[in-house]
Amino acid sequence: MKEQKEICSICEGDFDLDGEGGIVGDLGVLPVAFCPFCLSGVTDLAEQLMEGEEMDIELARYIASYVNEELERNNSIDRNTIMYAVDAFNGGAR
Ligand SMILES: [Zn+2]
Repeated sequence: MKEQKEICSICEGDFDLDGEGGIVGDLGVLPVAFCPFCLSGVTDLAEQLMEGEEMDIELARYIASYVNEELERNNSIDRNTIMYAVDAFNGGAR
């Protein structure tokens, strides 16, 4: 049996999508993968920043494409990146 490991776009750790969870998507030019820890961190933080509003799929897509753009510029991804993405979403997309 072959194990397929995904590489997390945020922490660059590998994870087993089937065994551990997380999410893999094709948004923008690059595929994005979030390991279970980063995925829950991203959704928790986004919910906090949205002041209790449920994180919706539009915001999730926005964050993913924001992360993609940062990766294309070879910028590192950390929690601030997600905060900037949420701020930009709140400020610009409404
Ligand atoms: Zn991760």
